[in-house]
Amino acid sequence: MHREIPIWCKKEGLFRHDRKKENEEIEKVNRQKIGKKQEKTILTEKVPGVSEKVIHRPCILVSACLLGVMCRYDGKSNGLAGLERLQETTTFLPFCPEVYGGLPTPREPSEIRDGKVCSKSGRDVTAQFEKGAREALRMAKLLGCSAAILKERSPSCGSHQIYDGTFQGKRIEGRGVTAALLEKNGIRLFNEEQAEECLAWLEKYGRREERRSSEK
Ligand code: SF4
Repeated sequence: MHREIPIWCKKEGLFRHDRKKENEEIEKVNRQKIGKKQEKTILTEKVPGVSEKVIHRPCILVSACLLGVMCRYDGKSNGLAGLERLQETTTFLPFCPEVYGGLPTPREPSEIRDGKVCSKSGRDVTAQFEKGAREALRMAKLLGCSAAILKERSPSCGSHQIYDGTFQGKRIEGRGVTAALLEKNGIRLFNEEQAEECLAWLEKYGRREERRSSEK
């Protein structure tokens, strides 16, 4: 674009065009344009092997056994728990707190009673469960997870129900150790049957966050 910058010529008593200044101004505008272009390229640049869609999707922590990982106490998984629709729009962080807490697979089943976690043979495994919970929270924070889909009734992951500690299969209302810590730290909990609720909540949450950042 041709730009004319008139300057006042004292000697002649009129405005003249300063070509040098004019060229400098054009260069400056061009540099700004190129800068913006580069910035745009960096923001949308693809990470090799990862689609752009994946990078910008919300991340949620998911009990690893719900994604086919064989980390359950009996060495099995809980199959693929119908989370496909959720997977289309979010990135999953598969996590097993009991394994991260240092327990082997397979392992004895455990239940919560009187604030402690004990295995069926009476071994106190509270420390391992608490370590796994802290690790889950650390990872969730690291990846910016705002929600978690957790296996119901597990002494680690149960978000609404757990077993009562008698190993008789009796369910009570309550939270597993990891679920309780995540919730205390503001992470929204859903169980494996609440994938649709989770989707709706994430949409609402995303809109709220967008509004907040545009107001800043
Ligand atoms: S601790 Fe959680 S993720 Fe690990 S096996 Fe139990 S329910 Fe699944």
